[in-house]
Amino acid sequence: MLSYLHEFHAGNHADILKHVTLMFVLDHLNSKDKPYTFFDTHAGAGRYNLDDERSLKTGEAARGIKRLLADQSGTVPPELNEYEKLVRESLAEGFYPGSPEIERRCMSAGSRLILAELHSTEADVLKKNMKGTSAQIHHRNGYEMLKALTPPEIKRGAVLTDPSYEDLADYDEAEKTFAAVYRKWPVGILMLWYPLISYRADRIESMKNGIAGAVRAGGKPAAMLDVQLCVNSADSHEEKSLAESAGSAVPRLYGSGMFIVNTPWKLDEKLRAVLPYFADMLGMDGKGSWSVNALQ
Ligand code: SAM
Repeated sequence: MLSYLHEFHAGNHADILKHVTLMFVLDHLNSKDKPYTFFDTHAGAGRYNLDDERSLKTGEAARGIKRLLADQSGTVPPELNEYEKLVRESLAEGFYPGSPEIERRCMSAGSRLILAELHSTEADVLKKNMKGTSAQIHHRNGYEMLKALTPPEIKRGAVLTDPSYEDLADYDEAEKTFAAVYRKWPVGILMLWYPLISYRADRIESMKNGIAGAVRAGGKPAAMLDVQLCVNSADSHEEKSLAESAGSAVPRLYGSGMFIVNTPWKLDEKLRAVLPYFADMLGMDGKGSWSVNALQ
């Protein structure tokens, strides 16, 4: 049963890391005057209300995107201008943008956006929110969809996989799917979001190592990047289920990461330019930190 609802977490530090990385990758794809295919395997509802009682209950958006948008320090890195502009414009239209909304707004004309969402209610809301756009929406398992539809007809492209990890099987599924998809579509840019939860550290490492091993076994050198943004120390989490932790003042994650295969040129530089600012702004009691590790 799916119990995760992104409404509780939209606009938190993890969303910020994921969406900024997403926009940098879309920017890279847009730099060539050619269409591309973009898959979002765990799309969510597409749009959220940050004044919804679920968002107010966790306070995650208040400690995340709302804090960033209220910053008057004049220290916002220029690399964040487009991201902040997109979020402000969406909020002015009455909603906070999830990944499908960001993709829809940023993707070049003629490119293909393919979305999957398994939760029935979220899939219905996603369809409503994407009405009038050319996005293809699948109410199905995103791992299966990705394996079935790769390599895509338009070969340039990328994937965002953003599981909730409410089910431990997500670690295995994500690893196996990325390994299989890389074998079939070695030119695709693959982005996997993962949580930082200290009691899951071994499982998270083995998932990333499994993907990196499959990429290396492909025989062709492929650049990979592992990026992390921590807002607290590794012992600050609570070992609770999602349902138990909703509304708790102690966060369940102390940060999150993005593991990227076929890293676009200069993505590491762009991320290094913004992560110190995020660690500073979003870190709790001065405990923010970040890292960017390139792998081959
Ligand atoms: N990517 C979204 C964004 O950034 O706005 C947030 C997605 S949320 C973290 C994860 C979503 O994946 C949830 O809406 C959940 O219902 C959905 N989900 C869980 N398992 C899935 C699966 N196997 N395939 C597709 N969607 C799934």
